[in-house]
Amino acid sequence: NADVAMSRAKALGRNNVQFFNPEMSRQSFQSLVIENRLHRAMEREEFVLLYQPQLDLVRGTLSGMEALICWTQEGRSQFSPSEFIPLAEETGLIDPLGEWILYSACRQNRLWQQAGLPPQRVAVNVSARQFYQRDIAALVARVLRETGLDPRWLALEITESVLFQDIAETLVTLEKLRDLGVHLIIDDFGTGYSSLSYLKNFPVGTLKVDQSFIAGIPDDPGACTITSAVVAMAHHLKMTVVAEGVETAAQKNFLSDTGCDKIQGFLFSPPLKSDAFADLLERSAA
Ligand code: C2E
Ligand code: MG
Ligand code: MG
Ligand code: MG
Repeated sequence: NADVAMSRAKALGRNNVQFFNPEMSRQSFQSLVIENRLHRAMEREEFVLLYQPQLDLVRGTLSGMEALICWTQEGRSQFSPSEFIPLAEETGLIDPLGEWILYSACRQNRLWQQAGLPPQRVAVNVSARQFYQRDIAALVARVLRETGLDPRWLALEITESVLFQDIAETLVTLEKLRDLGVHLIIDDFGTGYSSLSYLKNFPVGTLKVDQSFIAGIPDDPGACTITSAVVAMAHHLKMTVVAEGVETAAQKNFLSDTGCDKIQGFLFSPPLKSDAFADLLERSAA
């Protein structure tokens, strides 16, 4: 509600400190200066990226991760991204924040690779404003160049509801991103209004079944049917399927029987801090 949003905005604006990363462009530095509320939080490292591992259901091995932003103050997790990302969208703070997220995820993934850990793909969430109001492909290209990350190790998650806001523009943007060599994922699939005839034209590699469907497995026949249908459709379209929010062995077994490719959720692992994720990478190499 409005009061909550106001107090969030005040929390964002409380302080003002310099923040500069020489590898970031002058233009992005300018927007960071303007949005001093946000860079205070970044300078104090109140924003942290967590990495949630994904499990390949066929091989039974670690297979990729999703970067999830977390805002903690004095060690306590205070705001969920579902609360502050929409606020950051409204105020435009998502521009520097989104760039920081993309940059940090790519740099971290490159650092793990440089440390000799087995390479894995990192999926980064892209918000509506980022997708439509910036030259997202130019930004992604620059971040890949600056971090030295090979594009095959980056995926971008765009929610179904965002992708179908403007189909003509979406197609152009997705093709630019695909041409960079980045993997594309439709997030929260099943909750928006996909036009199935366009879905086949989008250069998308993965559908991510929304956790609201997974939550209904195995008791809700509707959720089970929809999930199996999405898996079958995705495979016919030569896409892979990830199920998110998998919490129980029964859900995992159903998804495995259905042919779902990967799962993500508390059953396998919660989102991890980077050092814990590095430990997991090291164990996966052994
Ligand atoms: P999402 O991309 O669908 O992310 C999945 C959410 O489910 C995450 O919540 C994750 O922590 C949570 N989750 C993971 N495993 C389980 C599970 O087993 N059970 C349940 N109930 N939940 C699980 P989180 O971190 O609160 O993120 C919520 C949403 O905020 C994300 O949904 C995404 O839309 C947005 N978001 C998060 N990080 C970013 C970001 O870096 N950039 C942007 N633009 N949006 C982000
Ligand atoms: Mg996501
Ligand atoms: Mg999702
Ligand atoms: Mg979701």
